[in-house]
Parts: sequence; C-alpha cells; structure tokens
Amino acid sequence: MTARSVYLDHAATTPIDAVVAAAMAECMQLSGAFANPSSTHAFGREAAARVSAARAQVAERIGAEPESIVFTSGATESDNLALRGAMAARRARGAHLVTSVTEHKAVLDTAKLLAERGASVTWLSCDSDGRIDPAVLDDVLTDETVLVSVMHVNNETGVVQDIAALGERCRARNVLFHTDAAQSVGKIPLAVNRIPVDIVSLTAHKLHGPKGIGALYVRPGVSLAPLQFGGEQERGLRPGTLPTHQVVGMGEAFARADPASDSEHLRVLRERLWEGLAKIDGVRRNGSATHSSPHVLNVAFPGVSGETLRLAIEEIAVSAGSACNAETLESSHVLTAMGLSDALAESSIRFSVGRDTTLDDIDYAVQRTTEAVTHLSGFASSAPSWCTS
Ligand SMILES: *Cc1c(COP(=O)(O)O)cnc(C)c1O
Repeated sequence: MTARSVYLDHAATTPIDAVVAAAMAECMQLSGAFANPSSTHAFGREAAARVSAARAQVAERIGAEPESIVFTSGATESDNLALRGAMAARRARGAHLVTSVTEHKAVLDTAKLLAERGASVTWLSCDSDGRIDPAVLDDVLTDETVLVSVMHVNNETGVVQDIAALGERCRARNVLFHTDAAQSVGKIPLAVNRIPVDIVSLTAHKLHGPKGIGALYVRPGVSLAPLQFGGEQERGLRPGTLPTHQVVGMGEAFARADPASDSEHLRVLRERLWEGLAKIDGVRRNGSATHSSPHVLNVAFPGVSGETLRLAIEEIAVSAGSACNAETLESSHVLTAMGLSDALAESSIRFSVGRDTTLDDIDYAVQRTTEAVTHLSGFASSAPSWCTS
C-alpha cells in the first residue's frame, strides 16, 4: 500500500455508515432481533417490528407507502423482477418492451433474454449528452407495449434522465414505467408520489448501506409475476426468509441520507475535481454537465489509455471507462452510445465522490492524475490485453 489512498469509486459501492453497521449488529445475535420475522413468537415479532420500521424508512425516502416496498437482494434482482415480472404478468396485453441502450447490464441482459424468449424489444438511443428525448416514446409506444424501462441516473456518467416526462407518456398510453434508481436515491430528488413512475429498483450499498439488499417499489394496483416460489414473504412476490440485519441496514441507510446537504457536498467536490482536471490538455467531460447527479464525473483523457491511467494512479480508486467481458476488453456501451469513438471511450475514467470524500482527497486526486497523464501522454498508449474489474 502507498502512504495515502483515496476512494473515488462510490458509484461502484460505498462504505457502510457506522450507525448503519451498529443497527445491523443489533439484529444478529440472541441478545438482539435475530429471529425469523415470520415467526409468531415474541422473538419473531421483535424482528418483524424492525423489518416494518425499515420498510417505512425506505418508503419514506422515495415518497411511497410502506406496503409498496418489496425487499430483494439488490438492484440487479429488482431489475430482473421488474422486467420479467411485468412482461409475464401482462402477457395478455402483448410482448413489447422498450428500454435504452445505456442501461445497466442488469436491465440490458434481462431485456436481451426476454428478446430471445420472444419479446419484441425497442432500444432507445441517446444524444451526445447521454440523454433520451422523452418525445421518442410518442412514436414507439403501441397497444402491445407492456413496459418502458429507463434508468434514472446512469452509473457510468451520472447523466439524469427525465423520468417524469417519460412516465407521463407511458401513463397516457396505459404502459407501465420502470426506472432503475440505484444511483439516484440520496443524491437527486425522487418522489414516486409526485411523478408517474410505477416500478423502481433500489439498492442499499450505493448509499452507505450493506451489499446484498435492495428493494423494488411497486405502485399499488400494479401486479407482477414472481420469479421465485416457496413462501408468502413479501406478498409472495419475493419469497424467502427476510434477512432482518440487511433490511434494517437498508432502512437506516435510507433514513440517514440527507439529499439536500449530501448533494451539495458532493457537488462541491465534483466541481472542484472537474476544475482541476479541466486544466489538463485536451480533456473532455463525458455526458451532460447540467442534467447530472452530483456524485459522478466521467472524463476522457485523449491519447491515454484509461486502464493504463487507472493503474498509474493506483492509490486513487477509480473505474476505467471500459467494462469487462469474459474474454474481451470492450469499450463502454454507454460512452459509445453517446457517440464517443472506441479510442475515446477507452481513454475515459469515472471518478465518483461520496459523503466521506474530502477536499484534500480531491486535490490529491487532481495532482496525481495530472502527473500521470502528463507522463503517459509522452508515450504511445495502448489498451492492455487483460482486465481486472
Ligand atoms: C449498482 C447498480 C446496479 C446493481 O445493483 P446491485 O444492488 O449491486 O445488484 C443496478 N443498476 C445500477 C444503475 C447500478 O448502479
């Protein structure tokens, strides 16, 4: 380890808040709420009370009723349940799914699976800022469209989609609207009681909660088909013993998020980072700067391989703009969809700040990145033939 390390990969995951960890620890042992929340004895009732308090905390953060929250193992499972569950439940209406090319793999791969199984999928493209024009739905929605799924905040670029406008167009055509909000909660406003969104994927670990727990908001009256069978938990939509400690951790993490002060802090950090990096010759910011979540900054360093740069600044934890496939090093589908060349996409780095990031961290990251880019620009760069994430 080097003397100093800085974590700027909060879009990948965040450390668990100390208060959250303490609340979780209370739900593990005999002295605490360890019991099965479905058990009817006093131990079980205590666990059930903790679960229901957590359900209310999660619901409150997004302006929902507690009954509309279904706990899952994370946003990946929530995305699967949303897409597969909606398409299966509304088969009588049709088999048309609309989603976008910049979605997280949890949606992309699920949509591809549905297409293989006979669904017709329309892939919406984005502009060079990474945004989708909601008006395209006017031409795309049909009487057979079951679901539109467009993410709220992109995990690679931080670009925010206009989910209110997308949702309104869906509502007008009686089409369900799902959004993956894994990156948005706690950073930008999301209130399901104010905008017409029917299904929302949530996760705890991007917001200083534990990994392995998430939720799906399902608007009352919307029915989904379950993917799993074997119990009555979560109204039969997601059977299996509820992990009380995980659920409590998610509730606490959502309750502790303070969107107003958190986003202001994140924005100050992110803008200072950009101000510093913008002084490097030729750099460009990827994605809309105005419609963006305050925690992400995606930057291209033309002529420098992002993966080489990432390794050169190893004490600063960031993500290279390329995603790993089993055998190939592919350039980011999000950046290429925005019109970046493979070369530019592969020269991009995602920096993501968090509640625990300091101004000193930012200044150090700017200094190290500037040194490394200056050094690397002196060499012909090439992407390495291997990948680590
Ligand atoms: C992290 C992330 C996911 C996956 O969430 P998990 O809880 O890790 O399964 C899905 N979608 C987006 C946009 C994400 O950022």
